[in-house]
Amino acid sequence: MEFAEQVKSSVDIVSVVQEYGPRLRKSGNNYSGLCPFHNEKTPSFSVSATKQFYYCFGCHAKGDVISFVMEIEKVSFYEALKTLAERHGIPIPKRSQYADEDSKLRGAIFQMQEYAQDNFRANLNGPLGEAARSYLAKRGVAPATIEQFGLGYSDRSGRALLRILEQRNFPQAQWEQSGLLRKRDDGTFYDYFRNRLMFPIHNESGKIIGFGGRALAPDDNPKYLNSPETPIYRKSAVVYNLHRAKEAIHKEDRVILVEGYMDAIGVTAAGFRAVVASCGTALTAHQVQVLKRHSQKISVNFDPDAPGANAAERSIGLLLEEGMQIRIVELDGELDPDEYCKERGAGAYQQRLDAAKGYFFWLADRARKNNDMRTPEGKVGALKALLPAVGRISDRLERMAIANEVAGYIAVERGLVLDSFLKAAADRQEKSFAAPRVVLRPDERILLNGLLALPEIRGEVIAALKSTEAAGTFPSRRVFQAIFALDEAGGPFSFEGVIARLDESDRNLLAQVAFTADAAISREEVMAAVRRVSLTDEQNRVAQTRARIRELERAGNLEEALRLMAELPRLSPPARNTGSGDR
Ligand SMILES: [Zn+2]
Repeated sequence: MEFAEQVKSSVDIVSVVQEYGPRLRKSGNNYSGLCPFHNEKTPSFSVSATKQFYYCFGCHAKGDVISFVMEIEKVSFYEALKTLAERHGIPIPKRSQYADEDSKLRGAIFQMQEYAQDNFRANLNGPLGEAARSYLAKRGVAPATIEQFGLGYSDRSGRALLRILEQRNFPQAQWEQSGLLRKRDDGTFYDYFRNRLMFPIHNESGKIIGFGGRALAPDDNPKYLNSPETPIYRKSAVVYNLHRAKEAIHKEDRVILVEGYMDAIGVTAAGFRAVVASCGTALTAHQVQVLKRHSQKISVNFDPDAPGANAAERSIGLLLEEGMQIRIVELDGELDPDEYCKERGAGAYQQRLDAAKGYFFWLADRARKNNDMRTPEGKVGALKALLPAVGRISDRLERMAIANEVAGYIAVERGLVLDSFLKAAADRQEKSFAAPRVVLRPDERILLNGLLALPEIRGEVIAALKSTEAAGTFPSRRVFQAIFALDEAGGPFSFEGVIARLDESDRNLLAQVAFTADAAISREEVMAAVRRVSLTDEQNRVAQTRARIRELERAGNLEEALRLMAELPRLSPPARNTGSGDR
């Protein structure tokens, strides 16, 4: 085990953790940041530089630098050790005692990918690669870019890799597991990739784990073929180009997501280094989690055609579930990102990035285009189209804030939007609230909902409640106070404004109210609650005064008792306007 100790003492856990995304902030001897192993908004992940140990107060993940790499790369102890040693220039002892059978197989498969890569690159540069070279030239890919991305060509013989693996003495049992060869029914083998332009796919540490191959013959199907799943290549977890892009992603705190290999390459070549692609498959939740470790901000730039837009819409759902901040980059002229960079230049692409809309406006634009917004049915249709996305916003408060924005943007009555959003939210399986649940009185709920959902009576309700004492005794009194304060400050009323004035537990309280309401609230219900609360106020004052009178009588202070008794009728006048307040 002394080699493991040597590795642990020569690498710094703080910098290793940060290489995988989490931004750590120093506090005393420790560092803290967002946990890479569970979904969170406030940091509960701590790393001790002195103890070389990490611990998460949220999900209780813990360990040293080796277990961190094992966990995050999903590799064995030996592989984590090897990765760390290689990356930090620590010589690895020539003993194989660290390798269990599984690690040995994976090691062999890694090795086979390297041999395949050498072959593909040699092919591209040689006489066999002429068609592939002319395709790349036609797409405007510069020789330096071909080199940088390690592009290659798989020949049409179907025997090139077969020969190589044979010559290198890899056991036949491992051939098919490499994803590079396939077995025929008669037991013979042939190359998986034939006559294709080859894109090596790397893991986060920069090792080749598989390939994507683009057909060069027009009638070859599919157009893009990826390595099958192998012990080292799990499609759903791999993001193309991440190992090159991650430094720029950290620096810019933003990732650009494109659809295809050529897009990632073209956009990178234009000077935008924080770009990744989803590897020719639909985006998966696992890929989003990987990206999220590096930045929570994502600019999605898919093809402008209908399938591209549909893919973008599906991706938004996944990205929302992970709490990513999403912008949608739109390119004009029906150009894909690669073509756009080449035809319009880096400056124009930068402008499109800067002009990227928040995803919600993009969705709303799509909904407006697909519905006749002059009719009530069209408006409801547009609203309905937005609801799936809303239901997937993991943050309850953000959902409310968006309800407010959407109403304005698609010009639908606020009450209608809020009502639909509340229903969408109710359909969503709510996770339990972090803070212990405070039990709110029914009137409190009605009043809060009314204040949020019915702007037309907000002023009246606020004025009436301010003059009562009951509002000051509600468990949610600080929420009411925040609403009052916002109202006093003038300016437009916004959900964010209320939120900004609350601490976390009160935010939860407000969310609890806003997202457990099951039906639209009416003006009448709210005004009835105002009257009940005002009544309680009066009853309280009368009860308190009576108690005080009894005390005074017992103490023999009749003079004062009589004075208070004279006040009693004033405390409960027969009819009273709810809003009049004290004189
Ligand atoms: Zn955690």
